[in-house]
Amino acid sequence: MAYNQREYAYKAGIEMDLNNYTASHGAKKFYREVNHRVFVNRSLHLEKIKFFGFDMDYTLAEYKSPELESAAFKFAIERLISMGYPSAISDFEYDSKFAIRGLWFDTLHGNFLKVDPYGNILVCVHGFEFLKTHEIYDLYPNKFVQLNEQRIYVLNSLFNQPETYLLACIVDYFSNSKEFTKTPDGVKKNADDLFMPYRSIHTDIRHAFDWVHDQGSLKKETLSNLDKYIMKDERLPLLFDRMREHNKKIFLLTNSDYQYTDKIMDYLFDVKSANGRKWTKYFDYIVVDARKPLFFSEGTILRQVDTKTGALKIGAHVGPIEPGRVYSGGSCDVFTQLIGAKGRDVLYVGDHIFGDILKSKKKRGWRTFLVIPELQRELEVWENKNDLFVKLQVLDIQLGDLYKDLDSSTNIKPDLTQLRTDIRKTIHEMDMSYGILGSLFRCGSRQTHFANQVTRFADIYGSTCLNLFYYPFCYMFRAPAMLMSHESTVEHTSLFDISTNVSLNEALKRLQAKQLAKLNDAQKQATDEIKKADEEQKRKVERKDSQVPHSKPAQPTEITHDADFDSDEADSN
Ligand SMILES: [Mg+2]
Repeated sequence: MAYNQREYAYKAGIEMDLNNYTASHGAKKFYREVNHRVFVNRSLHLEKIKFFGFDMDYTLAEYKSPELESAAFKFAIERLISMGYPSAISDFEYDSKFAIRGLWFDTLHGNFLKVDPYGNILVCVHGFEFLKTHEIYDLYPNKFVQLNEQRIYVLNSLFNQPETYLLACIVDYFSNSKEFTKTPDGVKKNADDLFMPYRSIHTDIRHAFDWVHDQGSLKKETLSNLDKYIMKDERLPLLFDRMREHNKKIFLLTNSDYQYTDKIMDYLFDVKSANGRKWTKYFDYIVVDARKPLFFSEGTILRQVDTKTGALKIGAHVGPIEPGRVYSGGSCDVFTQLIGAKGRDVLYVGDHIFGDILKSKKKRGWRTFLVIPELQRELEVWENKNDLFVKLQVLDIQLGDLYKDLDSSTNIKPDLTQLRTDIRKTIHEMDMSYGILGSLFRCGSRQTHFANQVTRFADIYGSTCLNLFYYPFCYMFRAPAMLMSHESTVEHTSLFDISTNVSLNEALKRLQAKQLAKLNDAQKQATDEIKKADEEQKRKVERKDSQVPHSKPAQPTEITHDADFDSDEADSN
């Protein structure tokens, strides 16, 4: 049914005010339980996705925490001792309450920095010691540091968690040991002419962890105790079956080698719901040794893996990519060409904000799903510490009340001492509910660099990829509005009194009455405007010689753009 302009304006007006109604009576309902939900940064229509790609480590295979971290931590300490570090460091045990993802390690001063999206320092820790504000200013002018790769190392991966804690342990050990003297950029051994820059401590620990992962015993330990280190779930084969039923293609894209991948995937699919099917049967395309993020730029040579021996076949594979076969390396360019995928057809699910998400989105335009296992704990605090959030709101109201009747003419200066102390205490208590270094996403009311990366590069995110199980393949993930300060603090004007608990029908009736009155006003205004436009036209006709094609912009009369939907979808509407 086509509306004329008057009817359309009327209908749009009602819809707008219905929004006010729903906003005041409880906003959009979310029907899936919190731990099953997928959260949205940019709208995404699952129906449009033809290829579902998955990373393996920490995405399909969720490692048990803190078991795996504790093992990696222990092996790295053994490696450091074999490199000449004091054997006393073997007293350290992994503490999962310390490390959060996304911390910056300043290799110059040996500090961990929790920063906001722009590099402003929110928290600074040296070893286990939290620096006070004036100490931070002494080392970092304006409490600011630039993300310079020569100096700053970002601990982005979940595999970095034990590395973060070990760095803190070792820096703390040397900075407080009687045998060493602390300087701004390293530690000096008192007895010898020995200086250890924090930069070299960081390099040693980096190498120790690389060794543990690549050549050390961690893989062997994991593979011989799969139950201890890896979670498995009946829903995984079911989710893949459902994807296939909806004609979706599934691919695996992992940095792990074939031997390790095969054993982990075998374990994950060794569940009743897989009915004895080998894991490779669930994937259309399998790529190991992908070397992400390199895969998303120049990549490496694509080769086929001999699944009987695990060895790579000689020569570059030039296609086609066949189901059930395993390939090693390659690049995104070659891979997507061989499987016939366009950027926006692919939803890639991974846990590494840089290697999986940022690069695939920025360089290839893939749609992205970031797995954040920590989200479960973050949401638990968000829900359970409601009293603290309410307390902070009350304190904010009290702060507003103190200034309520004051303007620029006043000489009264309200005493904020108690209120400021209470606000700081409440924010501190909120931060500490998450852990020693607070939340992954925020410090007080300020968001972290990590949170900003998630918002920028992950179209959707959730605590596990299995949450896709709870959404139909026609689902449209729609992002909530990102409100600026002026939008979140100023309420929309409501056209009717929402304090009286009216039914939706009654509300509509009242709205219609109000809308009619509004419409009469609008009609009068429109008549005036038409009159004005006529006069303008007359003036133009009188000046036919003008060389200007359009003398002013015209308001679009149809929908030409819609940032909330996929662009091709908006065009088809
Ligand atoms: Mg991973």
